[in-house]
Amino acid sequence: MTNENDSVKQDHPKASAHLPDSAGEKPAPVPGEAPLADPATPDHFFNVAPSAFESADTFFVASGMPLNGSYTFDRFIEGDCNQFARSAALAIAQKPRHTTFNPLLIYGGVGLGKTHLVQAIGNHVRQHSNYKVLYTSSDHFTSDYMQSLRTNRNNEFVAFYSSIDLLIIDDIQFFSDQEKTQEGLFHIFNILHQAGKQIVFSTDRAPQEISGVADRLLSRFQGGLVADLQQPELETRIAILNRKANDQGIAIPYAFIEFIAHHVKNNVRELESALIRLLAHASLHRREIDIPLIREVLGELPIDTSAKPTVEEIRRITCEYLGVPEDLVLGRGRRREIVQARHVGMYFSKQLTGHSLATIGRYFGGKDHSTVIHACRGVENHMETDPNFRQTLKRIRQEIEIRHR
Ligand code: ADP
Ligand code: MG
Repeated sequence: MTNENDSVKQDHPKASAHLPDSAGEKPAPVPGEAPLADPATPDHFFNVAPSAFESADTFFVASGMPLNGSYTFDRFIEGDCNQFARSAALAIAQKPRHTTFNPLLIYGGVGLGKTHLVQAIGNHVRQHSNYKVLYTSSDHFTSDYMQSLRTNRNNEFVAFYSSIDLLIIDDIQFFSDQEKTQEGLFHIFNILHQAGKQIVFSTDRAPQEISGVADRLLSRFQGGLVADLQQPELETRIAILNRKANDQGIAIPYAFIEFIAHHVKNNVRELESALIRLLAHASLHRREIDIPLIREVLGELPIDTSAKPTVEEIRRITCEYLGVPEDLVLGRGRRREIVQARHVGMYFSKQLTGHSLATIGRYFGGKDHSTVIHACRGVENHMETDPNFRQTLKRIRQEIEIRHR
């Protein structure tokens, strides 16, 4: 599972004011070349050895933020919800400075994968080229910029940014009402854009909904390609859960994955945390993963557990599971497997629907209430003496719970 570290700021001594010798050069992309720097290492914004930084003037001027090495395209599950944004991001990552998507602006609600996607661009470019990549957030940029003004080092600040080939700024909605910083960003944006450098932004709302940002800057934000991330649809949620469980080396039965995906809909971060909590409960309390445990774990999430299954649903699922045609259960047949399916169906109807015995009887081909009582007692006795039967009933119950939503 990846840790979100988009809010992590560096606490190492601030990076050098001096640019590396190659600053300002246009490095040619080197497709397929081995990584020049460990993408997870914060000091490597410029793909130079950290010592080059450290030996230089240690006076602060600007810095980027570390990339999370696990935020890659490979780990970003594609679905209808993100297909367009992902393709645009990948196109840029594969041919930085050679697409018309400049800037690329990714927008989408909380936990939908903005940070993952923009960092995937950064990671890919770092690994496949000499391009100078800088990833930062609007907050981080703002504090660096303000500091450069206070210390009269704005020229160096601008020079630092001008030498970057791929600038990624996360969460630009926080530039809202930062008038001074917006001026600085506007200036840097124009320099980079004119030089054909790639710029990538992310924001949690549509650009026209970002308030407190100067119009000229807003129009720059939207001057390239705007792509949104939507809430993941069921299929994508299932694929994401499967992948995350796999990455953890844990096999969770498909039915359970589907159950979680049905109930956790808002965003990917919630999906991830449901899975993490589930695995933690299972291992800490040494419990088998089953529907009751999943329900417990999802307890804090808004799930509708009040709706009850219908007798028809229970009848159908029971018959399917036991391999008995439903119409036989409605009839008077006395063959063992038919009687068993009929009784199990009645038993679960009594347990799960809240209907009267008489009503349940009617749903099973007009049996009377004493037949239903007899069926329920029979099932209970059988369960006490036969662990296999108990196991079968447990599975049928899970099946009913999973399919009834
Ligand atoms: P945002 O920045 O939009 O709030 P993040 O990029 O931080 O969202 O994503 C939240 C979590 O969900 C991260 O751990 C990320 O890896 C994961 N995630 C989001 N979208 C996907 C996806 N399509 N495939 C796999 N993981 C995803
Ligand atoms: Mg984010």
